[in-house]
Amino acid sequence: MPDTNVLAERPAQGQATVTDAIIIGAGISGMFMLYRLRELGMSVKVFEAGTNVGGTWYWNRYPGARFDSESWTYGYSFSKELLAEWDWKEHFSPQPDTLEYLNHVADKFDLRRDMQFRSTVTAAHWDDAANQWTVTLENGEQAKARFLFTAIGILSAYTLPAIPGRDSFQGPAYHPARWPHTPVDFTGKRVGIIGTGATAIQAIPEIAKQAAHLTVFQRRPNWAAPLHNAKISKEEMEEIKSRYEEIYAHCAQTPSWFIHEADRRKTLDVSPEEREAFWEKLYAEPGFGIWMGNFRDILIDEKANEKISEFIARKIRQRVKDPAVAEKLIPKDHGFGSRRVPLESGYFETYNRDNVTLVDVINDEPIECITPKGVKTSKQEREFDILIYATGFDGVTGAFDRIDFRGPNGLTLKDAWADGPRTYLGMLPEGFPNMLMALGPHTARGNIPQAIEHSVNFQAGVLRFMLEHGYTRIDTRPECVDEWTETVIKAAEPLLSSKVDSWQTGVNRNVAGRQVRRVLGYNGNGAHFRRKTDEVTTGGFKEFVFR
Ligand code: NAP
Repeated sequence: MPDTNVLAERPAQGQATVTDAIIIGAGISGMFMLYRLRELGMSVKVFEAGTNVGGTWYWNRYPGARFDSESWTYGYSFSKELLAEWDWKEHFSPQPDTLEYLNHVADKFDLRRDMQFRSTVTAAHWDDAANQWTVTLENGEQAKARFLFTAIGILSAYTLPAIPGRDSFQGPAYHPARWPHTPVDFTGKRVGIIGTGATAIQAIPEIAKQAAHLTVFQRRPNWAAPLHNAKISKEEMEEIKSRYEEIYAHCAQTPSWFIHEADRRKTLDVSPEEREAFWEKLYAEPGFGIWMGNFRDILIDEKANEKISEFIARKIRQRVKDPAVAEKLIPKDHGFGSRRVPLESGYFETYNRDNVTLVDVINDEPIECITPKGVKTSKQEREFDILIYATGFDGVTGAFDRIDFRGPNGLTLKDAWADGPRTYLGMLPEGFPNMLMALGPHTARGNIPQAIEHSVNFQAGVLRFMLEHGYTRIDTRPECVDEWTETVIKAAEPLLSSKVDSWQTGVNRNVAGRQVRRVLGYNGNGAHFRRKTDEVTTGGFKEFVFR
């Protein structure tokens, strides 16, 4: 797929473009927001750092990258024609196919004509007198618009490990979120990978198949369960298409907008035999059933969680031949499902290969530094030809922190959120007029494209309302922000995941100031969130202040 050059017209030097709206990001959110804003007759400019559309699926080109949501619930549902013409090839689509899909959407709706690529936004300042935003790009170029939409993703601010000497390595070093556009050849190479999150768990089995030797540096192991991906036949795809309406309607009323829904029973209410049979069934099925379709208490009750964790640990012991390696791969500091569960394809069996070594950097061989030749641990210097830092992201608010957002009094968004995000519905930040967020903090997420479609539709509704009433400015109401922030914090309280460090609770040891847990998402029921937003819409958006 050729990269797109800068397509949108650039203003003469020193002049700022002026449009009705600016969208930051041309991923799934930004593309759909552009589509909806055009429908409202607005002029729009999209700024995107990459050279083409796709966001997450543009950047994350590492081997093994694929959905762990069912492909046929991951596409946009707003266009029946689009649903009817696109054939997913696999139940859990690999990254190249997903990127092809997003390019198809961009072509079909002629989205690129309002997009400016290679354009990293560094600042967005609100001008109270002009009632508009001024956006500045890395190269100093400026653009102005009444409305600002952030479509910057929850996992886009990638982070490198804070290890001394990190940049001294003389061979190629990659972060999966900045993977080269041409495939990396691992043949005959000694490869080191730091990190064992969802990304590494997808990449490790693929790299191990090619590399001469792969060394995995693991800090904390993650629970993982089988993906069970399969190809989709033509007949199967036709059958799925015939049920799209039903599939999307079903997802819309589940708590996380996936096809999976918790079993109504509690773990300890059923006999051990029945429990075992149920878990065997879930473990053998594709997708997130083992996480989201499990007994309803496994993610909130310690005892129930212990039982499912024991079951998954047993599976790991069965799949990994060396018992000492199996023990290293079993998490001891958190229970199953309390961090986002990676779905894997042969991950555990990869450790049965002769060309793969697992290094436990907590208990056995702490990393001391990166050297020009490789990684120096407490025991030895391990030499590599290629290093991979699969060390994750500064989740949810990280991408916001990287842009200098300033509201009416010059207050930065970073400062405004120093004690935690303050928003209404995770869509509009308090104190930042006319700034709407897709996948902002404190919004409902779950199945990401469905969350995006829902919030973009809601925000397009807000704008339609404003256009119809001649309003030019929208702000939050303090009492509604208080109420929503409390709702979000309360919803997180019973969850075991709230007691665990992860990107979801805002902890990233590689980033200064990210050591304390925060509530970053709405963890309540997605169906309730839909109802709430629908009520706000039908009630005439009384929860906002319009001028
Ligand atoms: P992650 O889950 O945050 O994992 C980062 C890994 O790097 C962890 O194992 C972490 O160890 C380790 N690490 C970080 N800094 C380190 C250091 N200085 N020394 C040693 N180890 C270090 O990040 P990710 O794997 O990129 O996944 C993030 C999220 O992206 C996932 O949870 C998921 O939501 C999403 N994702 C989705 C898919 C998909 O849909 N198929 C695929 C990939 C990712 P600790 O655990 O000890 O911090």
